[in-house]
Amino acid sequence: EATGPASSLPSAAPTAAEVKRWREDFPLLSAEVNGHPLAYLDSGATSQKPRAVLDAERNYYEGLNAAVHRGAHTLAAEATLLFEDARAAVADFVGAEEDEIVWTSNATEALNLVAYAFSNATVGRGGAGAERFRLGAGDEIVVTEMEHHANLIPWQELAFRTGATLRYIPVGDDGALDLDAAGSVITERTRLLAFTHVSNVLGLVNPVEELVSRARAVGALVVLDACQSVPHLPVDMKALDVDFAAFSGHKMLAPTGIGALYGRRELLAAMPPFLTGGSMITTVTMESAEFLPPPQRFEAGTQRVSQAIALAEAVRYLQGIGMDRIAAHEDALGKRLLDGLGRIPGVRILGGQAAGPRVGAASFDLPGVHAHDVGQFLDDQGIAVRVGHHCAQPLHRRLGVTASTRASTYLYNTTEDVDRFLAGVAQTAEFFG
Ligand code: PLP
Repeated sequence: EATGPASSLPSAAPTAAEVKRWREDFPLLSAEVNGHPLAYLDSGATSQKPRAVLDAERNYYEGLNAAVHRGAHTLAAEATLLFEDARAAVADFVGAEEDEIVWTSNATEALNLVAYAFSNATVGRGGAGAERFRLGAGDEIVVTEMEHHANLIPWQELAFRTGATLRYIPVGDDGALDLDAAGSVITERTRLLAFTHVSNVLGLVNPVEELVSRARAVGALVVLDACQSVPHLPVDMKALDVDFAAFSGHKMLAPTGIGALYGRRELLAAMPPFLTGGSMITTVTMESAEFLPPPQRFEAGTQRVSQAIALAEAVRYLQGIGMDRIAAHEDALGKRLLDGLGRIPGVRILGGQAAGPRVGAASFDLPGVHAHDVGQFLDDQGIAVRVGHHCAQPLHRRLGVTASTRASTYLYNTTEDVDRFLAGVAQTAEFFG
């Protein structure tokens, strides 16, 4: 299974000189912020973009700009080819078939698209196998207590619309999923299990294989929030054996405005459209319309062509380096972050006690100091982190805090970035302590 960070691949870790070369590909990383060189430790929120990706988007607008799947002219045909090549590149990156990748605006839209398919009123507006998407009283949707709101609220609303019950796998005191409790939460009533591959707060990698096998044992469909895994780890959807997965381009070196839904071919074929309008139909009368097969059925309206092409360039950039090397690098940075935070008096690391694989992200609380003050203190030194609840209020509540400070890495972060952050946190703790 290709899920773990590359702690099993220590030889894949890059040298400091290589990381420095990668870093030079990112124009914004040479910026100064508040009189200090930028230490960007907020890639969990959004990543920086390499020149190759910026150029791909600019080149598209300078040389090819046209509406895809519509025009009869040369530019439109070439733009369509590139747009579909981009789909193939992204499919290849995550081990999927081309027609199993649906473009969306972001992961949030991808998750809403899946949730929408379960509305009873639309069963049959898709294709054969639509009965799998019927949901009602007595049925259960299972999520976890560590979900990003994007993978929680669509399921809450789905439960509200259909009368199904929402249940969740709790988080233990150590921050990890309580897999013993999962045994009584995932039952014969479970129709759908939606969970995050990697926690955006804790950086913990969840045991996909185990959760998928529990879902399979009761015939439930599996939706994976792959927002924090696809950018950082080698991910193969077929090996993971999930039914759906969502991820966002902007977290993996691409522009905002593009994301993707992976869906197993036969499931996408059974699903009704989410957005409707132009580009997703075959025949239209004043009374009704025939829909195209997936993925076009889910891509109504003018498409985000430049963003898709830039996402494909981002994928090529990541593949050029190698996801195993990126994972190995971030594994080392993540350990440095955790070890360093653990040595600062007064710091409480959220989920710090949990064992298991992680990516390069850690959140902490300094009791008595508001996370916004920590963030401000660090920002004064040019260190960019995220503060607040990171769109995971239930997890924060479970761990007894309302807000935390998160540092998250990517391929372009150096050990100096991490050390500057740790020194900044130590000073903050001392200052307020
Ligand atoms: N899921 C997780 C785990 C995330 O970290 C995020 C973004 O922070 C999302 C979903 C939502 O991503 P987007 O806002 O790009 O749709």
